[in-house]
This record gives sequence, C-alpha cells and structure tokens, in this order.
Amino acid sequence: MKKAILYEKLPASAVRCKACSWYCKIPEGTTGICGVRENIKGDLYLLVYGKPIAVHIDPIEKKPLFHFLPGTEIFSIGTYGCSFSCDFCQNWDISQSPRELKIQYAADKKALRENLYRMIDACEDWPPEKIVEYCIRNKIPSIAYTYNEPAIFFEYAYDTAKLAREAGLKNIFVSNGFESIEAIEKISPYLDANNIDLKGWTEDFYNKICHARLAPVKENIKRFRDAGVWVEVTTLLIPGHNDSDNELKSIAEFLVNISPEIPWHVTAFHPSYKMQNVPSTPAKTLERAYKIGKAAGLKYVYTGNIWGLEGENTHCPKCSELLIKRSGASVVENYLKNDACPKCGFKIKGIWK
Ligand code: SF4
Repeated sequence: MKKAILYEKLPASAVRCKACSWYCKIPEGTTGICGVRENIKGDLYLLVYGKPIAVHIDPIEKKPLFHFLPGTEIFSIGTYGCSFSCDFCQNWDISQSPRELKIQYAADKKALRENLYRMIDACEDWPPEKIVEYCIRNKIPSIAYTYNEPAIFFEYAYDTAKLAREAGLKNIFVSNGFESIEAIEKISPYLDANNIDLKGWTEDFYNKICHARLAPVKENIKRFRDAGVWVEVTTLLIPGHNDSDNELKSIAEFLVNISPEIPWHVTAFHPSYKMQNVPSTPAKTLERAYKIGKAAGLKYVYTGNIWGLEGENTHCPKCSELLIKRSGASVVENYLKNDACPKCGFKIKGIWK
C-alpha cells in the first residue's frame, strides 16, 4: 500500500478522499466507496499500489482508441475496485470484488480487512519502474490504465505515468469520467489520451443502472479536452435502457457542441453481471446510432463489439474516401498520408505518430 496524495484530513481522524467525484468522507478504519482506499490512523492509503489484478498487452483499438497510434500495442493494467457499480459491468469480477467483500463481511470488520488484504496481496507485483522497463524492452509505446476506473488507483497511475513520460512513452486512461477536478489537474500534464464512457444520457440511468451520477462525467469530458488530452467517447448501447433515438441524439449533440471531431464509439452490449436477462445489442441498433451521430454533425462515429460493420472504418468526413480499414481490433490498411486524407488533403484530428 502507499499513502495517498489526493486527500485531506478531517476532525476525529476522518479523511476526505479527493480522487473522484464522490469525495468520500472516510472514518478511521474504513474504506471509501471503491473499497481500495483506506483510512489508517487518520491518513488515507491506496491498498492496490503496484498490485494490478489484470495485466495484458492489447491492441490499442481494443480500448477503443481509433485516432491514437493506430495498429500499435498498449500495455494495460487494472486493479481491484471501482467508483461505479454498473449492473452491466463486463469486468465485475475485478471491479466489484471489494464491494462484494464489504457486503459479505458487513458485520465483521476484521474478517473484511483480512480477506481484502489477502486478495490484493495475491496479485503479482508490478511497480511503476517494472512496467516502464518492460514497455521499453518490448518496444510497447503506450500504457493504459484501464479495466477498472483509474482514478481509484490514482497514485499508482500517477507515479507510473510520470516515469513513462520521462521514458518517452504515452499514457492513456480508459475511464468512467468521474475523476475529481483535483485528479484531472494533476494527471493531465502526463496524460496523452482518455477514452471516456458516457454511459447514457439521463441521471435516472446513471442512478439506477450505474449507481452513480451523470453530471460530473459531462463536465469532465470538457475538462480533459481543455487540458489538452486527446478524448474519445464510448457509449455501450443496452437494449431498452439507453438506446432510444432521443437519448442517442442528445449524446451526439452534446459531443458536437464540445467538438464535432471527438470520435464517438457506439458499442454492443452482451449479457453480463446483473443484466443477464437483457438481450445482446443487435447490429441494427449500432447502425441506427451511427446514423444519428453523423446526422448530428459528428465527423467520426464508430461501431464496436460486433465485427464486420462498415462503422469500424475511418472515412474522410469531407470526401468519404476510406482512410483506415479495420477488422475488429486490428488495422487492416491505413491510407492516411501526413495525418490527412490522401485524396482531398482534409486533416484528420488525432495522435498519429
Ligand atoms: S476514489 Fe472515489 S470512491 Fe474511492 S475513496 Fe476516493 S472518492 Fe471514494
């Protein structure tokens, strides 16, 4: 574990965590909502520092980031815990474990702590130096803080990102957009890109399905962009829950108002966690969302999680020329020339080199 940097002390040995928009007030001997930041004798500690439960090398398209070093690999880490508790979470076995333990051992604090510590301790050691050395040795150009919400393991991500930047590597968050203002200010100088989930358009959806709040997410999409971080946005379309024409139009118009050049990924849901009875998203819903996004004025809309649709590819917004052909998470052809359309010269926004 490591002492946190984003918190303040409160009376009676309590602390306030400032890593995400919950700003949890945490009494001594307990953890915040995410379950991995603990008040120990009046100071806040991150329990999962250097202890990721998930370590993979992914294609960057899998994050998904389509306008960022296409066709490259990205070293990806995630820890236990999350600031959200989405009923459809595809990584619920890692993101929700600390919460599940809290429920299981609600009446026995000692057993809760022992089991939580044991669970984290069983994870392999990946301190920041080891991650950066591994990436350099294996010529992997970027690191993703992903799988669960990176703000909750802020100090681990921050230390790694600083070292990575010094070594010439790029840093990417894949986040729920619920970071605190303090976390955004601190990480942005070291962050190259963020794929932010905009999981739906209503507070009701965020309250009931994600057990969270929408407003900070909308603000943070703007904040990250204003801080100079490349932002792409993802919406997982869940049949009957967040996929009406009105909701999709509202999301698309919201993004257009920030910038029509934000890539918007509309991806297919498959039954998971507490939403086993909801059917998978049909391809026609992705195609409908694609059309709504383009009609609203977004230059780049992408379909995902169902492979083989035309929406996987990048076309020039000016002349419709095919620029990047993809198949699932792979780049098949990249025709971009000097970051622009080879036919009409239209500049395509992104981080290409
Ligand atoms: S990261 Fe968020 S959820 Fe976790 S303790 Fe801090 S404020 Fe609470």
